[in-house]
Amino acid sequence: MLQAFQAHPALLVITIVLASLVVGSFLNVVIHRLPKMLERQWRAEFAEHTGHEPAPEPRYNLAVPRSQCPSCGHRITALENIPVVSYFVLGGRCSACKGRISPRYPIVEALTGALSGYVVWRYGFSWQALAALFFVWAMIALAFIDLDTFYLPDDITLPLIWTGLLVNLGGLFVDLPSAVIGAAAGYLALWSVFWAYKLATGKEGMGYGDFKLLAGIGAWLGWKMLPVVILLSSFVGAIVGISLIVFARHGRNVPIPFGPYLVLGGLAAMFWGDALIQYYLQTL
Ligand SMILES: [Zn+2]
Repeated sequence: MLQAFQAHPALLVITIVLASLVVGSFLNVVIHRLPKMLERQWRAEFAEHTGHEPAPEPRYNLAVPRSQCPSCGHRITALENIPVVSYFVLGGRCSACKGRISPRYPIVEALTGALSGYVVWRYGFSWQALAALFFVWAMIALAFIDLDTFYLPDDITLPLIWTGLLVNLGGLFVDLPSAVIGAAAGYLALWSVFWAYKLATGKEGMGYGDFKLLAGIGAWLGWKMLPVVILLSSFVGAIVGISLIVFARHGRNVPIPFGPYLVLGGLAAMFWGDALIQYYLQTL
């Protein structure tokens, strides 16, 4: 099996794409449930601190209860849960109540499959590929959770930081000093922007989750990639932000989450960062 993967990269890519569609399906669950699980946890902690008896709630985690239709509660069967395929077979509707299923689900699955396929195509059968898959999956979950809730949970950003330092213990992507400095500088860079903006305008332009996310990206890719990540994410963020205000009449003061743009910048830096830096230096 391993020899077959090494001899036929296409076989490896196809296998990983198919397996990652299932991972994408799991990421959908994480994106949907993790914020709700954290909310419950905070409610329980708040009750404990204020001496209230916490209201009993049914078990709710990544495995329990089984997935169900949000409008009618119909239990989603294994056959209805095949990534991407089921959505199209069902015509994007629940089999019981015919309520619309969000296209977000197949989109997250297809995106996870495509990016994971790209990772193994790029890094081949290697530890780098395995680590990069973890990075990509964490980034996808963070981007969509931030889009939904304007919040980047510590449960993902903090492991992103220390796994970045761990994989680079042996220099998998960058040497360890670059990773350590990358983590610290990533955090401090956005922390300084946050405070400068807050002191100047009295408003908060982003959240502490953004600092931790950039710290994680810095830990994985090293401090040299931070300018690339910041430039790319600010550039794309500004274009999207301006288009939203102009075309969608999005209010100027309605917040836009920054996490998804950091994720885009981080992924682009992982895959094409070196080429971008070289191109930039050459044009200079
Ligand atoms: Zn239904």
